[in-house]
Amino acid sequence: MRKPIIAGNWKMNKNPEETQEFLEAIKGKLPAADQVESVIAAPAIDLNALVWFSKDSDLKVAAENCYFEDEGAFTGETSPKALSEMGVDYVVIGHSERRGYFHETDEDINKKAKAIFRNNMLPIICCGESLETREAGKQTDWVVAQIKAALAGLTAEEVSKSVIAYEPIWAIGTGKTASADQAQEMCHAIREAVKGLYNEQTAENVRIQYGGSVKPANVKELMAKPDIDGGLVGGASMVPDSFLALVNYQ
Ligand code: PGA
Repeated sequence: MRKPIIAGNWKMNKNPEETQEFLEAIKGKLPAADQVESVIAAPAIDLNALVWFSKDSDLKVAAENCYFEDEGAFTGETSPKALSEMGVDYVVIGHSERRGYFHETDEDINKKAKAIFRNNMLPIICCGESLETREAGKQTDWVVAQIKAALAGLTAEEVSKSVIAYEPIWAIGTGKTASADQAQEMCHAIREAVKGLYNEQTAENVRIQYGGSVKPANVKELMAKPDIDGGLVGGASMVPDSFLALVNYQ
């Protein structure tokens, strides 16, 4: 059975002091880690506070990005090796904001996935189509191609432990959630693609999140779908009560 994984994505919000306040408010209120995995993806400057909090709580910590080299002359980048050594569990890669604003390619994302495994962390690999692609009816081909490129060269064992986040771009920050059926349909297509690339067991193991205007009011309906194993949540993860309602959806 796949363990549900609900991850907040703070994007470029909150400073270390605000992070501390958030953590005070959620202390002792997270679900048991063997029931639901609660994750926060935060800006690099906030990760230290999150990692310390995670040491004696059920929270897991994600970086929102990293570079694909471990160290060296790469001014302004974040080392996956350093993230791992500080105690970070996951790294979000390929978010549509990084693909769009920062011109990240499928090849970059694949190199980052490899760097994350090399450093004993796990990737949350984002994919998703634009409104234009969906209106042209090409969303499944688009998303499957993104997934194939991101996973290239990874072993079945690595893919089994990976998290894939399906986030249609038209649903991010717009208040326009994909219907639970649309989300299920794509998450199922992603699982089928993993089965074709690897095998049935790997497809059964990989966890697939839906993201895009997930909130306490719709999380239950989404999580009830057979191929949706979690959520990647931006706006609704910023306020402690809302984050707690999401991770305690059961
Ligand atoms: P949203 O963002 O929940 O605010 O739509 C989701 C995301 O970008 O991960």
